[in-house]
Amino acid sequence: MTTELQHFVGGKPVPGTSGRFSDVFDPSTGAVQARVPLASAGEVAAAVGVAADAQLEWARWNPQRRARVLMRFLDLVRSEEDSLARMLSAEHGKTVADARGDLQRGLEVVEFAIGIPHLLKGEFTDSAGTGIDVYSMRQPLGVVAGITPFNFPAMIPLWKAAPAIACGNAFVLKPSERDPSVPLRLAELFGEAGLPPGVFQVVNGDKEAVDALLTDPRVEAIGFVGSSSIAEYIYTTAAAQGKRAQCFGGAKNHLIVMPDADLDQAVDALIGAGYGSAGERCMAISVAVPVGEATAGALVARLAERVKTLKIGPAHDESADFGPLVTAEAVQRVRDYLEVGIAEGAELVVDGRGRTVPGHENGFFLGGCLFDNVTPDMRIYREEIFGPVLSVVRATDYEAALRLPSEHQYGNGVAIFTRDGDTARDFTARVNTGMVGVNVPIPVPIAYHTFRGWKRSGFGDLNQHGPDSVRFYTKTKTVTSRWPSGIKEEASFVIPTMD
Ligand code: NAD
Repeated sequence: MTTELQHFVGGKPVPGTSGRFSDVFDPSTGAVQARVPLASAGEVAAAVGVAADAQLEWARWNPQRRARVLMRFLDLVRSEEDSLARMLSAEHGKTVADARGDLQRGLEVVEFAIGIPHLLKGEFTDSAGTGIDVYSMRQPLGVVAGITPFNFPAMIPLWKAAPAIACGNAFVLKPSERDPSVPLRLAELFGEAGLPPGVFQVVNGDKEAVDALLTDPRVEAIGFVGSSSIAEYIYTTAAAQGKRAQCFGGAKNHLIVMPDADLDQAVDALIGAGYGSAGERCMAISVAVPVGEATAGALVARLAERVKTLKIGPAHDESADFGPLVTAEAVQRVRDYLEVGIAEGAELVVDGRGRTVPGHENGFFLGGCLFDNVTPDMRIYREEIFGPVLSVVRATDYEAALRLPSEHQYGNGVAIFTRDGDTARDFTARVNTGMVGVNVPIPVPIAYHTFRGWKRSGFGDLNQHGPDSVRFYTKTKTVTSRWPSGIKEEASFVIPTMD
Protein backbone atom coordinates (compact mmCIF):
# COMPACT_ATOMS: atom_id res chain seq x y z
CA MET A 1 0.00 0.00 0.00
CA THR A 2 1.31 3.46 -0.87
CA THR A 3 1.76 5.84 2.05
CA GLU A 4 0.27 9.29 1.61
CA LEU A 5 2.58 11.93 3.09
CA GLN A 6 1.40 15.27 4.43
CA HIS A 7 2.65 18.80 5.06
CA PHE A 8 3.67 19.97 8.54
CA VAL A 9 2.01 23.26 9.44
CA GLY A 10 1.13 24.87 12.76
CA GLY A 11 2.87 22.13 14.75
CA LYS A 12 1.09 19.16 13.18
CA PRO A 13 0.82 17.08 10.02
CA VAL A 14 -1.72 18.52 7.60
CA PRO A 15 -3.06 16.64 4.57
CA GLY A 16 -2.64 18.20 1.14
CA THR A 17 -5.75 19.70 -0.42
CA SER A 18 -4.56 20.59 -3.92
CA GLY A 19 -5.32 17.12 -5.29
CA ARG A 20 -1.86 17.04 -6.89
CA PHE A 21 0.76 14.47 -5.82
CA SER A 22 4.23 13.31 -6.77
CA ASP A 23 5.50 9.73 -6.43
CA VAL A 24 8.28 8.94 -3.98
CA PHE A 25 10.24 5.88 -5.12
CA ASP A 26 12.32 3.23 -3.45
CA PRO A 27 15.28 3.62 -5.83
CA SER A 28 16.62 0.17 -4.90
CA THR A 29 13.52 -1.60 -6.24
CA GLY A 30 12.04 1.01 -8.55
CA ALA A 31 8.68 0.73 -6.72
CA VAL A 32 6.59 3.71 -5.62
CA GLN A 33 6.62 3.70 -1.81
CA ALA A 34 4.72 6.91 -1.05
CA ARG A 35 3.12 9.88 -2.65
CA VAL A 36 3.73 13.41 -1.52
CA PRO A 37 1.16 16.19 -1.83
CA LEU A 38 2.12 19.20 -3.96
CA ALA A 39 0.90 22.35 -2.25
CA SER A 40 -1.19 24.95 -4.02
CA ALA A 41 -0.37 28.67 -3.74
CA GLY A 42 -3.21 28.94 -1.21
CA GLU A 43 -1.77 26.22 1.02
CA VAL A 44 1.62 27.96 0.95
CA ALA A 45 0.02 31.30 1.84
CA ALA A 46 -1.74 29.70 4.80
CA ALA A 47 1.54 28.22 6.07
CA VAL A 48 3.31 31.58 5.71
CA GLY A 49 0.50 33.21 7.69
CA VAL A 50 0.95 30.69 10.53
CA ALA A 51 4.72 31.29 10.42
CA ALA A 52 4.30 35.07 10.55
CA ASP A 53 2.15 34.83 13.69
CA ALA A 54 4.47 32.34 15.39
CA GLN A 55 7.58 34.36 14.61
CA LEU A 56 6.45 37.40 16.61
CA GLU A 57 6.41 35.40 19.84
CA TRP A 58 9.52 33.35 18.96
CA ALA A 59 11.56 36.50 18.40
CA ARG A 60 10.64 37.61 21.95
CA TRP A 61 12.25 34.48 23.46
CA ASN A 62 15.73 35.33 24.64
CA PRO A 63 18.53 33.86 22.50
CA GLN A 64 19.66 31.29 25.09
CA ARG A 65 16.15 29.99 25.57
CA ARG A 66 15.87 29.55 21.82
CA ALA A 67 19.23 27.75 21.78
CA ARG A 68 18.02 25.31 24.45
CA VAL A 69 15.32 24.09 22.05
CA LEU A 70 18.07 23.28 19.55
CA MET A 71 20.00 21.44 22.30
CA ARG A 72 17.00 19.22 22.98
CA PHE A 73 16.44 18.77 19.24
CA LEU A 74 20.04 17.59 18.87
CA ASP A 75 19.53 14.93 21.55
CA LEU A 76 16.25 13.76 20.04
CA VAL A 77 17.71 13.41 16.55
CA ARG A 78 20.73 11.56 17.90
CA SER A 79 18.49 9.14 19.79
CA GLU A 80 16.85 8.06 16.54
CA GLU A 81 19.81 8.47 14.23
CA ASP A 82 19.60 4.92 12.99
CA SER A 83 15.95 4.99 11.93
CA LEU A 84 16.38 8.44 10.35
CA ALA A 85 19.40 7.24 8.36
CA ARG A 86 17.42 4.21 7.14
CA MET A 87 14.44 6.37 6.21
CA LEU A 88 16.74 8.74 4.29
CA SER A 89 18.59 5.95 2.53
CA ALA A 90 15.33 4.21 1.52
CA GLU A 91 14.07 7.30 -0.36
CA HIS A 92 17.36 8.68 -1.66
CA GLY A 93 19.24 5.47 -2.47
CA LYS A 94 22.53 6.39 -0.75
CA THR A 95 23.94 3.73 1.60
CA VAL A 96 22.86 3.81 5.24
CA ALA A 97 26.41 4.69 6.35
CA ASP A 98 26.42 7.63 3.94
CA ALA A 99 22.94 8.66 5.12
CA ARG A 100 24.34 8.83 8.67
CA GLY A 101 26.95 11.27 7.37
CA ASP A 102 24.20 13.35 5.74
CA LEU A 103 22.48 13.63 9.11
CA GLN A 104 25.71 14.21 11.03
CA ARG A 105 26.80 17.09 8.78
CA GLY A 106 23.40 18.69 9.38
CA LEU A 107 23.63 18.22 13.14
CA GLU A 108 27.03 19.89 13.19
CA VAL A 109 25.35 23.08 12.01
CA VAL A 110 22.74 22.65 14.75
CA GLU A 111 25.65 22.45 17.22
CA PHE A 112 27.05 25.65 15.71
CA ALA A 113 23.62 27.32 15.93
CA ILE A 114 23.41 26.53 19.64
CA GLY A 115 26.29 29.00 20.06
CA ILE A 116 24.59 31.70 17.98
CA PRO A 117 23.63 33.88 21.00
CA HIS A 118 27.32 34.77 21.09
CA LEU A 119 27.25 35.94 17.47
CA LEU A 120 24.01 37.89 17.90
CA LYS A 121 25.80 40.31 20.17
CA GLY A 122 26.03 43.64 18.41
CA GLU A 123 28.90 46.09 18.33
CA PHE A 124 29.33 48.92 20.82
CA THR A 125 31.34 52.13 20.81
CA ASP A 126 31.47 53.98 24.08
CA SER A 127 31.74 57.79 23.73
CA ALA A 128 31.81 57.92 19.95
CA GLY A 129 31.26 61.68 20.51
CA THR A 130 30.86 63.64 23.69
CA GLY A 131 28.22 61.76 25.68
CA ILE A 132 27.31 59.74 22.60
CA ASP A 133 27.29 55.95 22.47
CA VAL A 134 26.80 53.99 19.28
CA TYR A 135 25.71 50.37 19.20
CA SER A 136 24.21 47.88 16.81
CA MET A 137 21.84 45.01 17.28
CA ARG A 138 21.00 42.07 15.08
CA GLN A 139 17.31 41.47 14.66
CA PRO A 140 15.57 38.57 12.93
CA LEU A 141 14.15 39.09 9.45
CA GLY A 142 10.74 37.48 10.16
CA VAL A 143 9.58 34.59 7.97
CA VAL A 144 12.28 33.00 5.81
CA ALA A 145 12.03 30.07 3.42
CA GLY A 146 14.33 27.25 2.29
CA ILE A 147 14.03 25.32 -0.96
CA THR A 148 16.27 22.29 -0.92
CA PRO A 149 17.52 19.52 -3.24
CA PHE A 150 17.07 15.75 -3.09
CA ASN A 151 20.70 14.87 -2.56
CA PHE A 152 21.09 15.88 1.10
CA PRO A 153 17.57 15.71 2.54
CA ALA A 154 18.74 16.12 6.16
CA MET A 155 21.92 18.17 5.90
CA ILE A 156 20.81 21.04 3.70
CA PRO A 157 17.47 21.75 5.42
CA LEU A 158 19.35 21.82 8.75
CA TRP A 159 22.13 24.04 7.34
CA LYS A 160 19.48 26.63 6.64
CA ALA A 161 16.86 26.11 9.33
CA ALA A 162 19.09 25.86 12.41
CA PRO A 163 20.81 29.27 12.05
CA ALA A 164 17.57 30.91 10.86
CA ILE A 165 15.62 29.66 13.88
CA ALA A 166 18.42 30.41 16.36
CA CYS A 167 18.37 34.01 15.08
CA GLY A 168 14.65 34.30 15.89
CA ASN A 169 13.09 33.72 12.47
CA ALA A 170 10.29 31.34 11.49
CA PHE A 171 11.35 28.94 8.75
CA VAL A 172 9.21 27.46 5.96
CA LEU A 173 10.92 24.53 4.26
CA LYS A 174 10.01 23.34 0.77
CA PRO A 175 12.07 20.14 0.59
CA SER A 176 12.69 18.05 -2.48
CA GLU A 177 9.62 16.11 -3.54
CA ARG A 178 11.87 13.08 -4.14
CA ASP A 179 12.70 12.39 -0.46
CA PRO A 180 10.53 14.44 1.90
CA SER A 181 10.11 11.94 4.80
CA VAL A 182 13.20 12.91 6.80
CA PRO A 183 12.39 16.67 6.69
CA LEU A 184 8.85 15.81 7.89
CA ARG A 185 10.21 13.75 10.78
CA LEU A 186 12.66 16.54 11.68
CA ALA A 187 9.68 18.90 11.90
CA GLU A 188 8.02 16.58 14.44
CA LEU A 189 11.24 16.36 16.44
CA PHE A 190 11.53 20.17 16.51
CA GLY A 191 8.06 20.18 18.06
CA GLU A 192 9.01 17.52 20.62
CA ALA A 193 12.07 19.60 21.50
CA GLY A 194 9.82 22.50 22.46
CA LEU A 195 9.83 24.64 19.33
CA PRO A 196 6.54 26.57 19.27
CA PRO A 197 4.11 25.51 16.50
CA GLY A 198 4.65 27.44 13.27
CA VAL A 199 8.34 28.24 13.75
CA PHE A 200 9.52 25.34 11.56
CA GLN A 201 7.13 24.12 8.90
CA VAL A 202 7.32 21.85 5.89
CA VAL A 203 5.30 22.57 2.79
CA ASN A 204 5.80 19.97 0.08
CA GLY A 205 5.49 20.94 -3.52
CA ASP A 206 6.92 21.82 -6.88
CA LYS A 207 7.23 25.04 -8.91
CA GLU A 208 3.78 26.25 -7.83
CA ALA A 209 4.73 26.15 -4.13
CA VAL A 210 8.15 27.70 -4.85
CA ASP A 211 6.63 30.54 -6.84
CA ALA A 212 4.15 31.19 -4.04
CA LEU A 213 7.05 31.56 -1.59
CA LEU A 214 8.96 33.79 -4.02
CA THR A 215 6.10 36.21 -4.45
CA ASP A 216 4.70 36.30 -0.90
CA PRO A 217 5.62 39.70 0.56
CA ARG A 218 5.71 38.21 4.07
CA VAL A 219 8.69 36.00 3.14
CA GLU A 220 11.79 38.10 3.77
CA ALA A 221 14.54 35.77 2.58
CA ILE A 222 14.97 32.72 0.37
CA GLY A 223 17.71 30.13 0.73
CA PHE A 224 17.95 27.74 -2.20
CA VAL A 225 20.16 24.79 -3.10
CA GLY A 226 19.72 22.82 -6.33
CA SER A 227 20.64 22.96 -9.99
CA SER A 228 22.10 26.18 -11.44
CA SER A 229 19.33 27.12 -13.86
CA ILE A 230 16.75 26.93 -11.05
CA ALA A 231 19.14 28.70 -8.64
CA GLU A 232 19.45 31.57 -11.11
CA TYR A 233 15.68 31.72 -11.58
CA ILE A 234 15.06 31.75 -7.82
CA TYR A 235 17.75 34.36 -7.24
CA THR A 236 16.56 36.78 -9.92
CA THR A 237 12.88 36.37 -8.98
CA ALA A 238 13.51 36.75 -5.24
CA ALA A 239 15.78 39.77 -5.76
CA ALA A 240 13.18 41.42 -8.02
CA GLN A 241 10.69 40.95 -5.16
CA GLY A 242 13.07 42.75 -2.80
CA LYS A 243 14.01 39.64 -0.85
CA ARG A 244 17.37 38.52 0.38
CA ALA A 245 18.43 35.44 -1.53
CA GLN A 246 21.32 33.01 -1.48
CA CYS A 247 21.02 30.35 -4.15
CA PHE A 248 23.57 27.60 -4.61
CA GLY A 249 23.77 25.62 -7.82
CA GLY A 250 25.54 22.84 -9.68
CA ALA A 251 29.19 21.93 -9.82
CA LYS A 252 32.05 20.39 -11.72
CA ASN A 253 34.71 19.71 -9.13
CA HIS A 254 38.25 19.01 -10.30
CA LEU A 255 41.00 17.10 -8.51
CA ILE A 256 44.48 17.98 -9.76
CA VAL A 257 47.08 15.23 -9.40
CA MET A 258 50.60 16.65 -9.50
CA PRO A 259 53.49 14.39 -10.57
CA ASP A 260 54.84 14.41 -7.00
CA ALA A 261 51.52 13.36 -5.41
CA ASP A 262 51.17 10.12 -3.49
CA LEU A 263 49.34 8.18 -6.20
CA ASP A 264 47.75 5.69 -3.80
CA GLN A 265 46.19 8.54 -1.84
CA ALA A 266 45.06 10.31 -4.99
CA VAL A 267 43.42 7.17 -6.37
CA ASP A 268 41.61 6.46 -3.08
CA ALA A 269 40.46 10.08 -2.97
CA LEU A 270 39.16 9.99 -6.54
CA ILE A 271 37.31 6.72 -6.03
CA GLY A 272 35.60 7.85 -2.81
CA ALA A 273 34.82 11.38 -3.93
CA GLY A 274 33.90 10.43 -7.48
CA TYR A 275 31.63 7.46 -6.84
CA GLY A 276 30.38 7.83 -3.24
CA SER A 277 26.62 8.43 -3.17
CA ALA A 278 26.64 7.45 -6.89
CA GLY A 279 28.27 10.80 -7.67
CA GLU A 280 25.11 12.62 -6.58
CA ARG A 281 26.92 15.13 -4.37
CA CYS A 282 27.47 18.78 -5.19
CA MET A 283 31.03 18.31 -3.91
CA ALA A 284 31.63 15.04 -5.78
CA ILE A 285 34.82 15.03 -7.81
CA SER A 286 33.78 14.60 -11.43
CA VAL A 287 37.02 15.63 -13.17
CA ALA A 288 40.49 14.19 -12.51
CA VAL A 289 43.37 16.25 -13.88
CA PRO A 290 46.68 14.38 -13.94
CA VAL A 291 49.62 16.65 -14.73
CA GLY A 292 52.04 15.20 -17.31
CA GLU A 293 51.71 12.07 -19.42
CA ALA A 294 53.50 9.77 -16.97
CA THR A 295 51.10 10.73 -14.15
CA ALA A 296 48.13 10.37 -16.50
CA GLY A 297 49.12 6.90 -17.70
CA ALA A 298 49.67 5.57 -14.18
CA LEU A 299 46.53 7.22 -12.81
CA VAL A 300 44.15 6.00 -15.51
CA ALA A 301 45.48 2.44 -15.28
CA ARG A 302 44.91 2.33 -11.52
CA LEU A 303 41.56 4.08 -11.64
CA ALA A 304 40.27 1.69 -14.32
CA GLU A 305 41.17 -1.32 -12.19
CA ARG A 306 39.34 0.11 -9.17
CA VAL A 307 36.26 1.40 -11.01
CA LYS A 308 35.63 -2.02 -12.56
CA THR A 309 35.42 -3.61 -9.12
CA LEU A 310 33.19 -1.01 -7.42
CA LYS A 311 30.28 -2.77 -5.76
CA ILE A 312 26.80 -1.45 -6.38
CA GLY A 313 23.91 -2.71 -4.29
CA PRO A 314 20.60 -1.78 -2.69
CA ALA A 315 20.79 1.15 -0.30
CA HIS A 316 20.55 -1.09 2.79
CA ASP A 317 23.41 -3.37 1.65
CA GLU A 318 26.26 -2.59 4.02
CA SER A 319 28.85 -4.03 1.67
CA ALA A 320 27.86 -1.79 -1.28
CA ASP A 321 30.19 1.06 -2.27
CA PHE A 322 27.21 2.98 -3.55
CA GLY A 323 23.53 2.47 -4.17
CA PRO A 324 21.09 3.36 -6.93
CA LEU A 325 20.50 6.81 -8.38
CA VAL A 326 17.45 8.67 -7.17
CA THR A 327 15.06 8.12 -10.11
CA ALA A 328 14.82 6.36 -13.45
CA GLU A 329 15.07 9.82 -15.10
CA ALA A 330 18.37 10.45 -13.31
CA VAL A 331 19.75 7.16 -14.70
CA GLN A 332 18.54 8.04 -18.19
CA ARG A 333 20.13 11.51 -17.98
CA VAL A 334 23.51 10.00 -17.08
CA ARG A 335 23.18 7.36 -19.82
CA ASP A 336 22.48 10.14 -22.32
CA TYR A 337 25.66 11.90 -21.21
CA LEU A 338 27.62 8.67 -21.73
CA GLU A 339 26.37 8.58 -25.33
CA VAL A 340 27.25 12.25 -25.78
CA GLY A 341 30.77 11.66 -24.43
CA ILE A 342 31.37 8.73 -26.77
CA ALA A 343 30.07 10.75 -29.75
CA GLU A 344 32.33 13.66 -28.77
CA GLY A 345 35.36 11.38 -28.94
CA ALA A 346 36.09 10.73 -25.26
CA GLU A 347 37.29 7.23 -24.44
CA LEU A 348 34.92 5.29 -22.17
CA VAL A 349 37.52 3.20 -20.37
CA VAL A 350 35.03 1.63 -17.94
CA ASP A 351 31.38 1.31 -18.97
CA GLY A 352 29.03 0.71 -16.02
CA ARG A 353 25.88 0.46 -18.09
CA GLY A 354 25.77 -3.35 -18.17
CA ARG A 355 25.87 -3.73 -14.39
CA THR A 356 22.81 -5.17 -12.66
CA VAL A 357 21.98 -6.05 -9.07
CA PRO A 358 20.47 -9.54 -8.79
CA GLY A 359 17.03 -9.41 -7.21
CA HIS A 360 16.80 -5.65 -7.89
CA GLU A 361 16.41 -5.63 -11.66
CA ASN A 362 14.02 -2.66 -11.58
CA GLY A 363 16.22 -0.54 -9.30
CA PHE A 364 17.78 2.67 -10.63
CA PHE A 365 21.32 1.30 -10.82
CA LEU A 366 24.28 2.31 -12.90
CA GLY A 367 27.80 0.98 -12.41
CA GLY A 368 30.84 3.23 -12.13
CA CYS A 369 32.02 4.77 -15.43
CA LEU A 370 35.39 6.27 -16.35
CA PHE A 371 36.14 8.53 -19.32
CA ASP A 372 39.70 9.30 -20.46
CA ASN A 373 40.93 11.92 -22.94
CA VAL A 374 38.11 14.31 -22.17
CA THR A 375 38.75 17.84 -23.48
CA PRO A 376 37.42 21.21 -22.26
CA ASP A 377 35.24 21.76 -25.33
CA MET A 378 33.18 18.60 -24.71
CA ARG A 379 29.68 18.82 -23.18
CA ILE A 380 30.54 16.03 -20.73
CA TYR A 381 33.20 18.39 -19.37
CA ARG A 382 31.27 21.65 -19.48
CA GLU A 383 28.04 20.33 -17.94
CA GLU A 384 27.25 18.65 -14.64
CA ILE A 385 26.46 14.94 -15.10
CA PHE A 386 25.56 14.17 -11.46
CA GLY A 387 26.16 10.43 -11.55
CA PRO A 388 28.91 7.82 -11.06
CA VAL A 389 31.03 9.11 -13.93
CA LEU A 390 34.59 10.41 -13.60
CA SER A 391 36.23 12.24 -16.51
CA VAL A 392 39.99 12.42 -16.92
CA VAL A 393 41.29 15.61 -18.54
CA ARG A 394 45.04 15.37 -19.13
CA ALA A 395 47.02 18.56 -18.47
CA THR A 396 50.49 19.17 -19.90
CA ASP A 397 51.71 21.22 -16.93
CA TYR A 398 50.64 22.92 -13.69
CA GLU A 399 49.50 26.17 -15.34
CA ALA A 400 47.25 24.26 -17.74
CA ALA A 401 45.79 22.31 -14.81
CA LEU A 402 45.16 25.50 -12.81
CA ARG A 403 43.30 27.07 -15.76
CA LEU A 404 40.76 24.22 -16.00
CA PRO A 405 38.80 24.76 -12.75
CA SER A 406 39.51 28.50 -12.85
CA GLU A 407 37.91 28.96 -16.27
CA HIS A 408 35.04 26.49 -15.77
CA GLN A 409 31.51 27.92 -15.51
CA TYR A 410 31.12 26.25 -12.10
CA GLY A 411 33.30 27.05 -9.10
CA ASN A 412 32.11 24.95 -6.17
CA GLY A 413 35.01 22.83 -4.90
CA VAL A 414 38.45 21.88 -6.17
CA ALA A 415 41.34 19.83 -4.81
CA ILE A 416 45.04 19.48 -5.44
CA PHE A 417 47.12 16.47 -4.49
CA THR A 418 50.80 17.30 -4.15
CA ARG A 419 53.67 16.99 -1.71
CA ASP A 420 54.99 20.45 -2.59
CA GLY A 421 53.99 23.29 -0.27
CA ASP A 422 54.86 26.04 -2.76
CA THR A 423 52.59 24.52 -5.40
CA ALA A 424 49.77 24.09 -2.89
CA ARG A 425 50.07 27.70 -1.68
CA ASP A 426 50.16 29.07 -5.21
CA PHE A 427 47.14 26.95 -6.16
CA THR A 428 44.99 27.95 -3.18
CA ALA A 429 45.77 31.63 -3.79
CA ARG A 430 45.10 31.67 -7.54
CA VAL A 431 42.37 29.13 -8.27
CA ASN A 432 39.00 30.73 -9.07
CA THR A 433 36.81 28.46 -6.94
CA GLY A 434 34.94 28.87 -3.65
CA MET A 435 36.30 25.89 -1.67
CA VAL A 436 39.74 24.32 -1.99
CA GLY A 437 41.17 21.06 -0.67
CA VAL A 438 44.89 20.38 -0.31
CA ASN A 439 45.29 16.61 -0.26
CA VAL A 440 41.61 16.57 0.82
CA PRO A 441 39.20 15.53 -1.95
CA ILE A 442 35.90 16.92 -0.61
CA PRO A 443 36.68 20.24 1.09
CA VAL A 444 33.25 20.82 2.69
CA PRO A 445 34.08 23.35 5.40
CA ILE A 446 33.21 22.53 9.01
CA ALA A 447 30.06 24.05 10.48
CA TYR A 448 31.64 27.13 12.05
CA HIS A 449 33.33 28.10 8.79
CA THR A 450 31.23 28.88 5.74
CA PHE A 451 30.24 27.09 2.53
CA ARG A 452 29.63 28.37 -0.96
CA GLY A 453 30.72 27.92 -4.52
CA TRP A 454 31.58 30.71 -6.93
CA LYS A 455 30.50 31.57 -10.48
CA ARG A 456 27.44 29.52 -11.56
CA SER A 457 27.65 27.47 -8.37
CA GLY A 458 26.38 30.36 -6.23
CA PHE A 459 24.07 33.33 -6.79
CA GLY A 460 23.57 36.11 -4.27
CA ASP A 461 25.93 36.90 -1.47
CA LEU A 462 27.00 35.55 1.90
CA ASN A 463 27.88 31.91 2.46
CA GLN A 464 25.94 29.12 4.15
CA HIS A 465 26.40 28.30 7.86
CA GLY A 466 29.14 29.75 10.05
CA PRO A 467 29.15 33.48 10.87
CA ASP A 468 27.75 34.40 7.43
CA SER A 469 24.51 32.59 8.26
CA VAL A 470 23.95 35.00 11.16
CA ARG A 471 24.52 37.94 8.80
CA PHE A 472 22.12 36.45 6.27
CA TYR A 473 19.32 35.70 8.74
CA THR A 474 19.46 38.99 10.66
CA LYS A 475 19.27 42.68 9.84
CA THR A 476 21.48 45.14 11.62
CA LYS A 477 20.02 48.11 13.41
CA THR A 478 22.46 50.81 14.51
CA VAL A 479 21.59 53.09 17.40
CA THR A 480 23.23 56.44 18.19
CA SER A 481 22.22 57.57 21.68
CA ARG A 482 22.75 60.59 23.86
CA TRP A 483 21.11 61.39 27.18
CA PRO A 484 19.57 64.80 28.02
CA SER A 485 22.40 65.87 30.33
CA GLY A 486 24.76 65.59 27.34
CA ILE A 487 22.68 67.82 25.05
CA LYS A 488 24.30 71.22 25.08
CA GLU A 489 23.81 72.88 21.71
CA GLU A 490 20.72 74.15 19.94
CA ALA A 491 19.28 73.10 16.57
CA SER A 492 22.01 72.44 14.06
CA PHE A 493 21.54 72.58 10.30
CA VAL A 494 24.92 71.03 9.55
CA ILE A 495 25.33 67.25 9.30
CA PRO A 496 26.57 65.99 12.69
CA THR A 497 30.19 64.81 12.86
CA MET A 498 32.16 63.32 15.75
CA ASP A 499 34.75 66.11 16.02
P1 NAD B 1 16.64 20.78 -8.58
O1 NAD B 1 17.13 22.10 -9.04
O2 NAD B 1 15.91 19.91 -9.54
O3 NAD B 1 15.63 20.96 -7.33
C1 NAD B 1 15.97 21.72 -6.21
C2 NAD B 1 14.70 22.28 -5.59
O4 NAD B 1 14.07 23.17 -6.52
C3 NAD B 1 13.68 21.22 -5.22
O5 NAD B 1 13.07 21.56 -4.01
C4 NAD B 1 12.67 21.31 -6.37
O6 NAD B 1 11.38 20.95 -5.99
C5 NAD B 1 12.73 22.77 -6.76
N1 NAD B 1 12.44 22.99 -8.18
C6 NAD B 1 12.68 22.14 -9.21
N2 NAD B 1 12.29 22.69 -10.37
C7 NAD B 1 11.80 23.92 -10.08
C8 NAD B 1 11.26 24.98 -10.88
N3 NAD B 1 11.15 24.87 -12.20
N4 NAD B 1 10.88 26.10 -10.25
C9 NAD B 1 10.99 26.23 -8.91
N5 NAD B 1 11.50 25.25 -8.12
C10 NAD B 1 11.90 24.11 -8.69
O7 NAD B 1 17.89 20.02 -7.95
P2 NAD B 1 17.99 18.52 -7.43
O8 NAD B 1 17.98 17.60 -8.60
O9 NAD B 1 17.03 18.27 -6.33
O10 NAD B 1 19.44 18.54 -6.76
C11 NAD B 1 20.63 18.31 -7.48
C12 NAD B 1 21.32 19.60 -7.84
O11 NAD B 1 21.59 20.36 -6.67
C13 NAD B 1 22.66 19.40 -8.50
O12 NAD B 1 22.80 20.33 -9.54
C14 NAD B 1 23.65 19.67 -7.38
O13 NAD B 1 24.94 20.08 -7.81
C15 NAD B 1 22.96 20.77 -6.67
N6 NAD B 1 23.45 20.93 -5.30
C16 NAD B 1 24.22 22.02 -5.02
C17 NAD B 1 24.72 22.20 -3.74
C18 NAD B 1 25.55 23.40 -3.41
O14 NAD B 1 25.77 23.65 -2.22
N7 NAD B 1 26.01 24.17 -4.38
C19 NAD B 1 24.43 21.25 -2.75
C20 NAD B 1 23.63 20.15 -3.08
C21 NAD B 1 23.14 20.00 -4.36
